[in-house]
Amino acid sequence: MEMDVVAASELQRGGWDVVVIGSGFGSLFFLHSYLKRHPDHRILVLEWGASHSRQWQVDHQTNSAVDYQTTISNHGEKDWNFSIGLGGGTNCWQGMTARMHPHDFELKSRYGVGLDWPISYDDIAEYYDLAETVMNVAGAPDAGKVFPRSAPFPQQQHHLSRTERLIKADRPDTFFAAPQAKLTSNVGTRGACCNNGTCSLCPTGARFYAIEDMADIWEAPNLTICTGARVREIDFSGPIAKAVLFESEGREYRAEADLIVLGANGIHSPFILQQSGILGGDPGSYLGEKMLTFVEIMLDGMDHFDGGTATTGFELSYIDGEFRSRHGAVQYWTNNSFLWGGLRLDPPGRHRQVFPIGITVEDLLYKENAVVDTGNKYPVIEHSGFSDYAMKGLDFAISKIPEVFSSLPIESVELRRVLPTADHIHGSLRMGDDPTTSVVDSSQLHHHLRNLLVVGTSVFPTTSWAVPSLTCAAMSLKVGATI
Ligand SMILES: Cc1cc2nc3c(=O)[nH]c(=O)nc-3n(C[C@H](O)[C@H](O)[C@H](O)COP(=O)(O)OP(=O)(O)OC[C@H]3O[C@@H](n4cnc5c(N)ncnc54)[C@H](O)[C@@H]3O)c2cc1C
Ligand code: SF4
Repeated sequence: MEMDVVAASELQRGGWDVVVIGSGFGSLFFLHSYLKRHPDHRILVLEWGASHSRQWQVDHQTNSAVDYQTTISNHGEKDWNFSIGLGGGTNCWQGMTARMHPHDFELKSRYGVGLDWPISYDDIAEYYDLAETVMNVAGAPDAGKVFPRSAPFPQQQHHLSRTERLIKADRPDTFFAAPQAKLTSNVGTRGACCNNGTCSLCPTGARFYAIEDMADIWEAPNLTICTGARVREIDFSGPIAKAVLFESEGREYRAEADLIVLGANGIHSPFILQQSGILGGDPGSYLGEKMLTFVEIMLDGMDHFDGGTATTGFELSYIDGEFRSRHGAVQYWTNNSFLWGGLRLDPPGRHRQVFPIGITVEDLLYKENAVVDTGNKYPVIEHSGFSDYAMKGLDFAISKIPEVFSSLPIESVELRRVLPTADHIHGSLRMGDDPTTSVVDSSQLHHHLRNLLVVGTSVFPTTSWAVPSLTCAAMSLKVGATI
């Protein structure tokens, strides 16, 4: 694949039609749509990290040469996780692709907590279909009962384990093969998933990697990619964003553009606005994420681990309901690999009689949990940890396990641990109709600088229970197609 990657010192002089900051989910899915409409626009992508092939990542057992923890100063009670490099989170993610539920967009009006989104499920439904097509998502056709869809999944669903087939027979309307951007059949040079469960570093390419699977972007003649370019500020005058200021190899650069697209993740994007003095809507506040917990069900006489991928099923009985006025919605991922657990050691000979589950729990976003600019080179994070809303949701989720998994021969339920981060970042540049309480509008345009667009999960006003990247991709496809 011909990828035109240049150093900052080699960039042509003169302005650009579009400068895109960062190259993760938000930026790349925006470009996928935008390039189709504007094949003649001169577009520059400024990416802090380097370009590392999938093979490089597998060989080095890391997604990036930059340790992301050195790019933040975490003063809070919980961890965060992201990847710095060409492709951003499309390199390190695990390929889980849940859609949000239609009611997730209406949390405030339905349940009196959180915020309503200024867009609805129907507004992005066609882009969910398109995002799944770009990523070759494998999924269960009958999940359309919960998440309305107008096109079939591009790949057939992954094979459920015998344990999960019992759950499916018991709960046909709420338990489904989990949707995944992991192939069940080979596509081009991408091999089908072989279920070894190291999906952040997938050796077969079964899992979607943008650096391999979005050739339309990398080969676009009107696109220039500059790596090793850390953006510091956006220069603006009145209501117009003028230029992007960035540093590379110790030198300062300025790239002028008619449209600036900010897609530098939910921690660095607000920091760039703060450093620029673009403070409308309070960038950086309402930072948060959902909770991810890991549980093992010990099985009495039944073997597990014969499913078709790493995370095989998802159970949706409690992703929505009036209980959301009191605690978070919950979703169970049933797991078929050693991602969140391992073989059973005790008693001997029953090593496969264990059923690992990941539970995601929605949390609320709070103003005081924030990315803060303290005048240093890197953003400071202040966060008080998961709230009571999430902790009560977790208690609720654990209490429902005997009911939800009643078709299994449960010997005991062991709560293993709340993970220090679910690897998702939301809310620091949230979208909304009110410019005093949100940073961007329903089109993801900045309320005050109308040629500044924000893409990525930073614009999410709530966490929902669902993994975020498919929704981020769908929203970005939409703004790229309509701006
Ligand atoms: C280990 C792991 C597993 C995950 N698994 C899943 C999953 O299975 N399903 C799911 O839905 N989500 C998953 N996620 C979350 C997913 O990666 C994020 O939701 C998604 O990447 C967010 O997209 P984004 O565009 O907001 O940011 P990113 O994809 O992080 O992109 C930000 C880009 O900006 C660049 N950048 C940052 N600062 C600057 C700067 N100052 N100047 C220039 N460039 C900059 C970064 O290098 C990067 O390229 C996972 C995340 C991790 C870490
Ligand atoms: S289970 Fe294996 S083959 Fe499948 S996506 Fe994960 S790492 Fe790749």
